[in-house]
Amino acid sequence: MEGLRYRPLDREQRAEEFIRFLDENYAGADCSLRHDSPFTLLTATILSAQCTDARVNIVTETLFKKYPTPADLADADIGELMEDIRSTGFYKNKAKSLKGMAGALIEKHGGEVPDTMEELTALPGVGRKTANVILGNCFAKPAIVVDTHVKRISNRLGLVQSNDPDKIEKELYDIIPGEKGAEWSHQVILFGRETCTARKPKCSECPIAEICPYLNGEL
Ligand code: SF4
Repeated sequence: MEGLRYRPLDREQRAEEFIRFLDENYAGADCSLRHDSPFTLLTATILSAQCTDARVNIVTETLFKKYPTPADLADADIGELMEDIRSTGFYKNKAKSLKGMAGALIEKHGGEVPDTMEELTALPGVGRKTANVILGNCFAKPAIVVDTHVKRISNRLGLVQSNDPDKIEKELYDIIPGEKGAEWSHQVILFGRETCTARKPKCSECPIAEICPYLNGEL
């Protein structure tokens, strides 16, 4: 990039600058899935696998009215539920997960969404990524959500060197303050949608190009 003067930083310094950049440009970044409780966010997050948040929000607008509580969702007719969520893709598996998750909430947690990683990942259809969405957004617990944007950008910026989401999450906890994790993840997602896109990152207009090892041939 013409006129660019690369500033090679170590990993911690780069992380600090990246955090500062995100805070200045994406202050208040929040979850884009419609929800008003841990239960509705858990439902929406399960539906969001391989689907856009915008599409999920269209579906949940009616879904949450039809099945307002875990008991309603647990009692849903599976065929009807599949039709209700069909447009989000993978609807057969998602319907089973939703019914199973709601049933487990009733049977094991008194109808409430639990607030530990262990209990959340024991629910049908809930992996670490979904559990972190809930822990960070609903319970203000340390939680970094490793989605496709976080995975790509963390690697490009040399904050991690891995394709494995669990390993990436662990490595990021070394350099991203845990309590900031949820907001940080939302900020990175916005930056990934706008600038550091998957196929053609807009490096020529990227405000952090001068510290990016990916652009400057270090990676
Ligand atoms: S310079 Fe390019 S690759 Fe590096 S962070 Fe910016 S957009 Fe992404």
